[in-house]
Amino acid sequence: MSDKKSGGVPAVDRERPLLLKNAIILDYYPVAMDADPAPRVIRGDLRVVGERITDRGPNLDPQEGEEVVDLDGMTLLPGNINAHGHLYAALAGGMPQPNATLETFTDILTEIWWPLDRALDHEAVYLSALAGAWDAARCGTTLIFDHHASLAAVGGSLDRIEQGLAAVGLRGCLCYETTDRGGKGQRDTCLDENERYLQKLGDLKPGDVPRFRGLVGAHASFTLEDKTLQLLGDICSRHDTGLHIHLAEGPTDREVSRERGWLDPLERLAANGLLRAGSIFAHGVDLSPLDMQTIEDHDCWLVHCGRSNMNNGVGRAPVDRFPSRCALGTDGLDDNLWGELRTTYFRGNEGGRGPLGHAGAARFWLGNYRLAREVFGEPFGSLDTGAPADFIVLDNFRKTPLDQENWLSHLLFCFHPWDIAAVYVGGSRVYARGDAPPADAALLQETAARIWKLMGVTK
Ligand SMILES: [Zn+2]
Repeated sequence: MSDKKSGGVPAVDRERPLLLKNAIILDYYPVAMDADPAPRVIRGDLRVVGERITDRGPNLDPQEGEEVVDLDGMTLLPGNINAHGHLYAALAGGMPQPNATLETFTDILTEIWWPLDRALDHEAVYLSALAGAWDAARCGTTLIFDHHASLAAVGGSLDRIEQGLAAVGLRGCLCYETTDRGGKGQRDTCLDENERYLQKLGDLKPGDVPRFRGLVGAHASFTLEDKTLQLLGDICSRHDTGLHIHLAEGPTDREVSRERGWLDPLERLAANGLLRAGSIFAHGVDLSPLDMQTIEDHDCWLVHCGRSNMNNGVGRAPVDRFPSRCALGTDGLDDNLWGELRTTYFRGNEGGRGPLGHAGAARFWLGNYRLAREVFGEPFGSLDTGAPADFIVLDNFRKTPLDQENWLSHLLFCFHPWDIAAVYVGGSRVYARGDAPPADAALLQETAARIWKLMGVTK
């Protein structure tokens, strides 16, 4: 435990099995793919061979050639999962406010996010993904459902996101945010990028733990023409996959529909065959009880992005009415999922303790793992024999007891990124306290400064 640079845990040579001893192991699901969530806490040992956990028990004997590490009561828990993120936003952190007044959600899009996505070139997309992935790893996040936009560098951009995630060692489910903002030519490039990436990924191979999966990406109903929705539906059908889109992120989505004489946003998706099982709809602030039922009936996911909703002033999502497939996303703010969970819980209590409570917060948290299990076909959220070895080693000096009755209270009030000693993905250590970042700070700063200048927020 004295090796400060390694956070007290070794970098894994994946050829060499690893035995982690004396851990407090928290996991959320059994390893069986059809099992319901069943959070458990046990004291024991974990054996990792290759990408998977191959044994777990109270007193596992070391085997020849195995690296043995005594965790001395540290907590092992599954890596965090972000159900809706934007790695392209990572180099906007610390950016000065634009000169224009930001009064509405549309102002925020037209003054910040759309200039940013037009300023990014391929190198900036890669470096942004790399920087964002490093931030994510340091928060214990091991898998990101990313929603990417870089309108001046569309073709091949998902490969650059993939490379940024791979350089850190994280998993991702990627897509490109198709939009009609740039006209038909750019719209077609966006559609092509989604299709190209899905073709490249191919089908799931039995036995492999996939690093990357894909969905069909679209920005939001209010920047998409009917023809584009139809083409998105065609790609989903060809690849038998879901859609990842912002839906009802405040009233703008519905207002634009009414101005344009369109159906309401969810009805537009339905009319174009886009209420496909496994689709991810982010935000859901302005949805009626009937909309919620429609999402439930079609086995789609609704992702709550509480901090982003608050920051953009788009309204309060009716979290107590979200469908059974609900999850949490950071919407590009960062990849601190414990922070996101807390905000969802606190917001539910603000102004009088509402109906969300611990059970509601747990429903959202466990949803992220169910989503990842459905999309990747792997038992994420389990730390039992056969599960992918994606986990956090937490060294929070164990000031209070952890058991399967109070696990959520620990997530809400007791676990913090600064307590993370190490993070593993597929049996490899991707982060340990004290590690140097994977990119040169001067290069990142130079790239961020160049982007900010192109956006017109600096001179
Ligand atoms: Zn978003």
